Amino acid sequence: MTRILHRDPKQTLPTAVAGSGPYIIDAEGKRYLDASGGAAVSCLGHSYKPVVEAIKAQLDRLPYAHTGFFTNEPSEALAEHLIDRAPEGLEKVYFLSGGSEANETALKLARQYFHEKGETQRRWFISRRQSYHGNTLGALSIGGNPGRRAVYEPILMPAHHIAPCYAYRERQDTESEEAYGLRVANELEAMLQQLGPDTVIGFVAETVVGATLGAVPAVPGYFKRVREICDQYGILLILDEVMSGMGRTGTLFACDQESIAPDLLTCAKGLGAGYQPIGACLISGKIHDTIVGGSGAFQHGFTYIGHATACAGALAVQQTIERESLLDQVGKRGGELTAALIERFGKHPNIGDIRGRGLFLGLELVEDRASKQPFDPALKLHAHIKHNAMQEGLMCYPGGGTVDGRAGDHVLLAPPYIIEEEQVAEIVDKLGRAIERSLTEVRA
Ligand code: PLP
Repeated sequence: MTRILHRDPKQTLPTAVAGSGPYIIDAEGKRYLDASGGAAVSCLGHSYKPVVEAIKAQLDRLPYAHTGFFTNEPSEALAEHLIDRAPEGLEKVYFLSGGSEANETALKLARQYFHEKGETQRRWFISRRQSYHGNTLGALSIGGNPGRRAVYEPILMPAHHIAPCYAYRERQDTESEEAYGLRVANELEAMLQQLGPDTVIGFVAETVVGATLGAVPAVPGYFKRVREICDQYGILLILDEVMSGMGRTGTLFACDQESIAPDLLTCAKGLGAGYQPIGACLISGKIHDTIVGGSGAFQHGFTYIGHATACAGALAVQQTIERESLLDQVGKRGGELTAALIERFGKHPNIGDIRGRGLFLGLELVEDRASKQPFDPALKLHAHIKHNAMQEGLMCYPGGGTVDGRAGDHVLLAPPYIIEEEQVAEIVDKLGRAIERSLTEVRA
């Protein structure tokens, strides 16, 4: 009997015992092609030796030194690496143990920034429906996933949500992408006016929506207009790139493709690629200088911030991405995977949309392609797909997106950047069988 409190205690999970490139092997010797990088984490696969060696070397030198007493070489080098490549204006980094902590940190930095400026009346964050920012209470408060929030609603910060930029479902047929982007970005302005702009701290958004919708990028111009509104009303823009950052979309930061820079940017998953638990919050010079020039210290902190071994692992991951030109590989394999998905599912009666960027791709399943009618959420089509894919030896990341009856089940694909051409075919083949079997099951 397991002593672990598993996410779904009724489910019996296979035991993962080994990794080999993009495959995970269980205790029975069965191989699973990791087409989702776990939850968009494992960008280098599961046995990348240079990263393992870098972690071992750091463990031999110094596993950990509390940041209340010391800085350390790996965290300084990793910060330098990230800031050298970061969007303009981001100048400092705070290293954490994961994505939720990174978002908590961003929220608190944002609040302290205005506190230092004497604008203590600012208390609201605006975020988007159908978003996910983590499971700690602050991150959950801004998240827009009703299923995750429901139990905790009474103890969450009040939330102010606007629509996501979700063209497949929300753009009207008569509307151009640009017009739709403007209309939906302007919801931010309307919410600011409703709340009173000088009561708002910032706007939080995933640059490309991951788990809740399944790899949904914004339409062109959306984030430019968002940035404009934030500047006009003096609020901060916080981009959550926990899932979409670190090369997943083909550029190191997903917002590089939007030609904007946020005031705070969070990343995690692909930062350490699963070799170590690590997240980061990148901070603009403006915010840093205001806090340092004010009370002088950020009122925050965790025991494992700037963890030397975690930073050494993440530095090796990031150096590998660069040394092996893996961003180019993301573009190349992402193109191949998109083309293969379109060929296999482009006319499928139950696949309404194929979308995403780089190796961050999503399929949305619909009962009826013409009307975009989602499947009944009670059928849990996404759970069938996950189960059947695992039977096939394929890891994919399905989600039931239905919120207000306006999103279908989806499958998120986020394979390691090192996948080969034949593995692209393996993903589509196995996914195809898993989807067909699942459709038969839910109709039975
Ligand atoms: N933000 C986004 C966009 C995420 O996808 C996730 C995790 O899936 C998080 C934040 C939370 O990260 P973590 O699970 O590492 O706390």
